[in-house]
Amino acid sequence: MRRSLVVGNWKMNGTLASAEALAKGVIAGLSPSSADAAICAPYVFLPKLQDLVKGTNLALGAQNVADKESGAFTGEISAAMLSEVGCKYAIVGHSERRTYYGDTNESVAARFCQALSKGVIPILCIGETLEQREQDQTFAVIDEQLAAVINAAGIAAFAGAVIAYEPVWAIGTGKTATDEQAQEVHHYIRQYLAAKDQTIADNMQILYGGSAKPDNAKGLFAMPDIDGGLIGGASLDADSFLKICHSV
Ligand code: PEP
Repeated sequence: MRRSLVVGNWKMNGTLASAEALAKGVIAGLSPSSADAAICAPYVFLPKLQDLVKGTNLALGAQNVADKESGAFTGEISAAMLSEVGCKYAIVGHSERRTYYGDTNESVAARFCQALSKGVIPILCIGETLEQREQDQTFAVIDEQLAAVINAAGIAAFAGAVIAYEPVWAIGTGKTATDEQAQEVHHYIRQYLAAKDQTIADNMQILYGGSAKPDNAKGLFAMPDIDGGLIGGASLDADSFLKICHSV
């Protein structure tokens, strides 16, 4: 039985004070019946949040991780550094990184491997643009994005990873994939993994991301291959995020 997981991606928002208040609000509202929950906060807030989440049900994550172990890579944050500040998760390959900062399938695969090597669970984001969907390339894009990581890390490595299907056209646009559209791709991802390793596929947590909100989370999470969500905008409000956590 796969556990449900809801992860907030705070992106580049907030102040240290607002981040602390938001985390406290989330911690206060989580209950044993909620999904497992995590927040991926801006790097500089992580040490403070590490103290706040200690001993609670809320896990901590980062929004990216370096593709190298250490050294002269100005501005990068290594997996070992994330581990030291208590990160359980690191998002890799978010579409905003791919679009605005030049992340490629290969560099995403390297980030994925770095995270795993230091015991940080990578949340691998994959998904198609609107243009790719309209040209019927959704599954080809998913194939390519998954293959790059499987080639670099091996299928066995996915036992320590999470996948987030995030159709790029749904991120931050208010346009959510329908329950059926999302389920179709989640099922495809699970089948793709199953062709390589059935157990990995059966156990893989595959999250949906893209304008998930309290009013659409229940339907999405009821789909058989959707194991929770990666939540952007709605994670910036404790009540909305908690409602989503309680939708499983
Ligand atoms: C995201 O950034 O991963 C995301 C899903 O954002 P939003 O929920 O705002 O669409």
